[in-house]
Order: sequence, then structure tokens, then C-alpha cells
Amino acid sequence: FPSQAIPVDRIQYNDQGLVPAIVQDDLDGTVLMMAWMNRESLQKTLETGETWFWSRSRSQLWHKGETSGHLQKVRSLRYDCDSDALLIGVEQIGDIACHTGERSCFHQVEGSITAPPADMLSQVYEVICDRRDRPTPESYTCKLLADGDNKILKKVGEETAEVVMACKDDDPESIASEVADLFYHTLVALSYHGVPLKAVYRQLQQRRR
Ligand code: AMP
Ligand code: ZN
Ligand code: ZN
Ligand code: ZN
Repeated sequence: FPSQAIPVDRIQYNDQGLVPAIVQDDLDGTVLMMAWMNRESLQKTLETGETWFWSRSRSQLWHKGETSGHLQKVRSLRYDCDSDALLIGVEQIGDIACHTGERSCFHQVEGSITAPPADMLSQVYEVICDRRDRPTPESYTCKLLADGDNKILKKVGEETAEVVMACKDDDPESIASEVADLFYHTLVALSYHGVPLKAVYRQLQQRRR
């Protein structure tokens, strides 16, 4: 991780010497938490490749994960247009960023606990896993999962053929629609076999290097 990625002196700290840092999951874009950094914690973050913040309640430097073990490995670091906010992409150890044990601090919608916003594939995968774990009678996803590999893999094969046909027709709208069908059924296969979508993302990330 390049420690010269952020010019520590260029950052606009507020009158308390602090800058807000938004922490995002580097794989699926989930917003994990927001905390404050000062110059020293930003410096330590750059030096160690793990996140350090300034705890306003304890008035001390705070190495995220020091007691919980939920460290954050920094994968990317950027600042906004007027240099007064940071966006940090991390690999979240334990996949838990919030001290409540939830994955993201932003898990509350109107007082009830929900998965934090992520990219669309992750959101669809979340719903599929929810259907798997809490079946509802009218759900197509539940029927697929109940029939198991025979039905699921037949659909993956069919949708693959439909993608091929749509591409041969060179019809953008039906290509998009058929790829959506294929993505969905592939996610059902992943869920059925208990493979996290993030395992796929990790594979894609490794190939990018
Ligand atoms: P940790 O840094 O994960 O070992 O947690 C140590 C302490 O930091 C916790 O007891 C909380 O007081 C605080 N803390 C941890 N994670 C967060 C978070 N995402 N937002 C705010 N405070 C946190
Ligand atoms: Zn700004
Ligand atoms: Zn939290
Ligand atoms: Zn189709």
C-alpha cells in the first residue's frame, strides 16, 4: 500500500484537528462505518496499512480492532474535492465493523436491522439467502432451492443458451435481460452450495492484479 497516497499536510482538518473518514468494504462497496481521524491517526494508518482513528469519547488514538480483533486492512485511500473528507477502502477482518456485532454501522432503517446497502448483485444474493433460510410458499426462489441442483443447473444451462441467442441477435435489451436471468440463477446456485458471493469477488479481485 503506497504511503504517499495521501498528502497528510494537504488535508483540511476542522477546528478540532479532525477529518471525517468513511470506511467502505473494498470488495462489494458496502459502507461500513464513519469515524474521525486527526493528522497523527492518518499518518499511522498510512504507515501501518491498518486503520487508526481519533476516539472523541476517549480522547485518544484508536487502532480499529485492537480489542475486538476486527482490524481493517487498507486497500485504497482517497480524499474529496476540497480535501476535507476521506474515503477508505478496506478488507474488513471478521467481516464486522460495528461494535454492536453488525457488519456495518449503517444497519438501521426506521429502527429495524437490515443489511447495509451494497452493490446490486450483493443485494439480490442477500434476498436469495434470506429465502433459503426463511422459506415462503409463493417464492420462485424457494421452489428452485427446494428442487435442488437438478432444477437450478437446468436453469443455469437454459439461461446461458438464452444469453448466447440474445448476443447472436445483437439486441442490447434482451442481452441485458438474459444476462440478468443468468446472474440470478447463478446466485441461486451459489446460495444453494453455501458459497458466499464475496468468494467470487475475491477471485475477480485477485485476477485484476
Ligand atoms: P475495536 O476497535 O473494534 O477493538 O473496538 C474497541 C472500541 O471501539 C469499542 O468498544 C467501541 O467503543 C469502539 N468502536 C469499535 N468499532 C466502532 C465503530 N464502528 N464505530 C464507533 N465506535 C466503535
Ligand atoms: Zn469536502
Ligand atoms: Zn457501529
Ligand atoms: Zn432468460
